[in-house]
Amino acid sequence: MPDYDFDLGVIGGGAAGLTVTAGASRLGVKTLLVEKEKALGGDCLHYGCVPSKALIKTARVYHLLRKTRVYGLPEASIGEVDFRDIALRIQSVIETIQKHDSPERFCRLGAGVEFGDPVFVDEHSIRLNGNIHSAKKWVIATGSSPSYPPFEGLTETPFITNKEIFSLNHLPSSMIVLGAGPVAIEMAQAFCRLGTRVSVIQRSGQILSREDRDMAETVMDALSKEGVNFYLNSKVLRVKDLGNERMVVITQGDNELKLRAETVLVAMGRKANLDGLGLGDIGVEFDKKGLKLDERLRTTQRHIYAAGDVTGRFLFTHAAGYEGGVVISNAVFHLPRKVNYTLMPWCTYTDPELASIGMNEKAAAEAGIEYTIWTEDFRDNDRALAEGESTGKIKMILNKKGSPVGVQILGLHAGELLGEWVASLNAKVKLSTLAASVHSYPTLSEINKRVAGDVLSTKLFSDKVRKGLKLFFNFKGRACKGEGNRQDHP
Ligand SMILES: Cc1cc2nc3c(=O)[nH]c(=O)nc-3n(C[C@H](O)[C@H](O)[C@H](O)COP(=O)(O)OP(=O)(O)OC[C@H]3O[C@@H](n4cnc5c(N)ncnc54)[C@H](O)[C@@H]3O)c2cc1C
Repeated sequence: MPDYDFDLGVIGGGAAGLTVTAGASRLGVKTLLVEKEKALGGDCLHYGCVPSKALIKTARVYHLLRKTRVYGLPEASIGEVDFRDIALRIQSVIETIQKHDSPERFCRLGAGVEFGDPVFVDEHSIRLNGNIHSAKKWVIATGSSPSYPPFEGLTETPFITNKEIFSLNHLPSSMIVLGAGPVAIEMAQAFCRLGTRVSVIQRSGQILSREDRDMAETVMDALSKEGVNFYLNSKVLRVKDLGNERMVVITQGDNELKLRAETVLVAMGRKANLDGLGLGDIGVEFDKKGLKLDERLRTTQRHIYAAGDVTGRFLFTHAAGYEGGVVISNAVFHLPRKVNYTLMPWCTYTDPELASIGMNEKAAAEAGIEYTIWTEDFRDNDRALAEGESTGKIKMILNKKGSPVGVQILGLHAGELLGEWVASLNAKVKLSTLAASVHSYPTLSEINKRVAGDVLSTKLFSDKVRKGLKLFFNFKGRACKGEGNRQDHP
């Protein structure tokens, strides 16, 4: 048996790599963590989730300041945005969280942390800063980067991605966003709220294309009302640098349009960070999307595992954490645990938020299952009305047995509201239990109880039950002969 320097080597100190490193080293596994950048934390902390959510909050506050009259307040006089101040706030949030991800913390847990550019020299060893480190098992957790489509003129034109957008030195007067996925749409709304004129270019006829059309269109309507311009079914022909401005030429049907803006944001998908690691030379197969993996997250070299965006599956921090746990089960406990993404939740943090778990209508139709749809609107939720934020709805998909296979929530704090469904669906809680559980009033979460109650109330308040009660207890029926008191949703 060869004597390796480490039991486990982890490449990449982001969400996935840190989960594996913390878990393994706390279990007494001698672990080496290798990170290429100067600090740990990865995209989520430095260029992703954390800065985007900090920016979204700032933009929301600014947006609400312009709506004070709606809340019965005097009009607020507000100055113009200085993006350098926003960037400072974002940086301070990052720095606070960075403390949790310090090399010292991982050292205290027992892991060795090294910074540099590793290259595999054989199936068990890397070269790093001139030294060779060997490990019995490895985990690739190097994340992903923005991918740039080969549009004519793009490489000769200055543009920004999620790497630059949170540290701009001024607020762009105008921005063209290429792409309409979650990152593109969250940034489009945030910058529009701060005062940038924003145009979004999308190849297909729907933004947030993974979502059901009705939900995505409500998000688009909300953004359109705030001033974001959408160009759907639009193909980018070329991009040109005009000096002070950039031009994006698109076609929409037979029309050619020339759009101009100060800044172009490219948010058109991600590619796995796998170049330069020497993986091809040691028999680890991958393509642009990610590594070739089995259900236990093993690569084509079975002692080398993967977690996070390099898997090319669900590109979320919580997915990276989940996959990190699966890797620990397999690589440390030797338990043959497989990944199961059936109940992987996600949320797009626009206003209103759009959160999902399980199958949406699109996925249920694609899977060819029989399903029914149950909805409740936020305009019927007292708290949403009190908050002045009643856009959106909950949409629950039931299979033919009447069990929920998916839930989408579109509305205020949808990401938080989804938590109840995350627990319920994982624990296979019956809809009747959810419907019978008392929720505080007035809360947005009553919408969860109410949609579950809808399913049961169609059975409970049926003609059959009414007739049975009349038969047994001789109830006399309606007291009002008109239709005025009739309630469809008791
Ligand atoms: C703008 C934006 C907003 C987002 N918002 C959310 C959100 O709200 N919620 C959510 O769940 N997800 C969000 N995501 C996605 C989330 O950031 C990623 O899914 C998550 O960071 C993936 O974790 P990871 O560990 O795979 O990769 P990362 O966190 O990127 O970590 C990879 C690490 O590997 C390092 N590395 C790369 N190459 C090498 C190498 N050759 N050698 C050594 N180290 C290397 C990198 O420097 C990095 O530190 C967002 C992404 C973006 C871009």
